[in-house]
Amino acid sequence: MDLTAVPVTKVDGVGEKRAEDLAQLGITTVADLLEHYPYRYEDYRLVSPAEAVHEEKATFRGRIQGSPSVRWYGKKKSRMSARLDVDGVIVQVVWFNQTFLKNKLKPGQSLIVSGKWDAHRLQLTADRTFVSEAEQQKQAGRLEPVYSVTGSLSVSWMRKTIYQAFVQYGREIKEVLPEYLLQKYKLIERPKAMYFLHFPKGREEGRQARRRMVYEEFFLYELRLLKHRLETKEKGKGTPKNFDRQKVNDFIDQLPFPLTGAQRRVVDEILGDMEAAGQMNRLLQGDVGSGKTVVAAIALYANYLAGHQGALMVPTEILAEQHARSIRQLLEPTGLQVALVIGSLTARERREALGQVQMGLVDVVIGTHALIQDGVVFHDLGLVITDEQHRFGVKQRGMLREKGRAPDVLHMTATPIPRTMAITAFGDMDVSTIDELPAGRQPIETHWVKTDLWPRVIRFIQKECRKGRQAYVICPLIEESEKVDLQNAQDVFEELTVELAPLRVGLLHGKMSPTEKEEVMRLFAENEVQILVSTTVVEVGVNVPNATVMVVYDADRFGLAQLHQLRGRVGRGQHASTCILVADPKSETGIERMRVMTETTDGFEIARRDLELRGPGDFFGVKQSGMPDFKVGDLVEDYHVLEVARADAAECLASPGFLDHESYAGLRRFLDSQISNGSNLD
Ligand code: ADP
Ligand code: MG
Repeated sequence: MDLTAVPVTKVDGVGEKRAEDLAQLGITTVADLLEHYPYRYEDYRLVSPAEAVHEEKATFRGRIQGSPSVRWYGKKKSRMSARLDVDGVIVQVVWFNQTFLKNKLKPGQSLIVSGKWDAHRLQLTADRTFVSEAEQQKQAGRLEPVYSVTGSLSVSWMRKTIYQAFVQYGREIKEVLPEYLLQKYKLIERPKAMYFLHFPKGREEGRQARRRMVYEEFFLYELRLLKHRLETKEKGKGTPKNFDRQKVNDFIDQLPFPLTGAQRRVVDEILGDMEAAGQMNRLLQGDVGSGKTVVAAIALYANYLAGHQGALMVPTEILAEQHARSIRQLLEPTGLQVALVIGSLTARERREALGQVQMGLVDVVIGTHALIQDGVVFHDLGLVITDEQHRFGVKQRGMLREKGRAPDVLHMTATPIPRTMAITAFGDMDVSTIDELPAGRQPIETHWVKTDLWPRVIRFIQKECRKGRQAYVICPLIEESEKVDLQNAQDVFEELTVELAPLRVGLLHGKMSPTEKEEVMRLFAENEVQILVSTTVVEVGVNVPNATVMVVYDADRFGLAQLHQLRGRVGRGQHASTCILVADPKSETGIERMRVMTETTDGFEIARRDLELRGPGDFFGVKQSGMPDFKVGDLVEDYHVLEVARADAAECLASPGFLDHESYAGLRRFLDSQISNGSNLD
């Protein structure tokens, strides 16, 4: 029986109404229910009064001494107390508003009580009482699972129902992992592990159950991912591209700067993919300022030489415009036609641009999400590049890919991704890394100052700008907000305009129209404006090499990845740059973030610390980036398991017996059921 195909209503006690509430939790089948694991356990293991911890929960078994006494406060409130002999120690047990228990608490009655322990007064305030022998049997020494619930569902109903599901269907739970892996890691079998994860008798049992299920979860995930990757490669849907490597080299030679070694290497990897029959699916990571744009331009040129159109999709209009400018400049000597497609084009401009794209008069199209809208038809799309790819959802990336016949795909990102994240979120991609900055870059000095030093920060900006440099000042908000006491861009803009005259100050924020934004960016890029006060719209990709000062006001309001991106706006030219974080952090993590930023400029190190501080769930918007939502495994805590499981999964797939040998039957069943359930990694 395939439990992923048995509706949850087959479990006794689950009717229409309950099923609706369960569906809210994503539970529609028996398998879903069995895999709805508790997020913690209530500890009912018996302790002696000596072992119990003051002010914490404790569970005792003992005998009632004498009769309980009851005191009433008004009609509804009561306090009942009794003495309990726990292995010779007499403790006082107190029950508030539970007089319904009174008749059961006879002298000499044995019972188990659980509640908060006061070690000074030897007193337990009971919240659970187990009187009958049966109840005591069931409860003694238990860790009781606590579940997330919703609607009309209660935790105790969930407990009962999951238990019932095991009674009815427990024997249908099949092993999926091959025997040799169970042996290798001494893992307990699947049915047992699932049961103990819900209803462990003790900590050790729970630990073994979790260990087994974490491994399984990671292993199956990696298996699916690697298999998918093999299949897309084998299908060889893509068409090999023919282009003259010599021409590409000539293009590289005439660039205004020599490529770094790392850029050369990734260019080779990308061109190799494009020449091969399979469809390229590659992630290009490179820290801010490492020079990814020129790599994109080279790939677009090669794609053009092979006779195809290329597209570059970016998350914001500012970035689209900037890329259009720099890519046009880079490709200028080759005579390629570059078009910009963004939301703010007039209807006529848009129609014209799209017409040219469709007829193949345009070789490279650069744009925002506007690129993936329905009206956009390519003549012959051969290469798709996304910049700052984690900003796009999995679906959006897929839509762009479908605009051509299996075009090559290159995703670029400046968010350094810790290894565990990379192999989970992007495990089906090849990865190229630019791990070297262009020569001559000076390290960015980072300082953290308290807000009362703001006047000195202003003087510093003034000094740098008088030397001919430029500065960014980032604020979290646009306008005065009643709720939060934060600096807003408008106020800072006005203040600096006065303080720094005759230097010119510009203002940039998300509420401005695209033309206004473009105008301010242009003035800043041309040094007509020396200081740019902005919200985080400049966060990704903006490139003005003459800017050497990055001031972030209320910096503790930003996440590490964002601060790193912001800091990456400076240090892009030959002058030494400074980043000043102005903040009075109130939380520990706020302080920790400021520390991390002043300690390192290594994006990978920052990403690792960010992951630790925030946890993977929050890292870059799980849902957005296609990060899986693991039920048991934790990407930070269990990352070594992930690495081991990945290697094992690869070995399995490569093993000659995988397709027919009995020992892999469970895995094959799993993969088949994934396909019939329509789950899809694209
Ligand atoms: P990012 O990887 O953050 O997108 P960019 O592509 O915007 O970085 O490049 C940052 C700056 O470095 C640009 O001004 C670009 O012209 C310059 N640059 C790129 N590659 C090199 C190189 N090999 N040598 C010198 N400067 C380079
Ligand atoms: Mg960039």
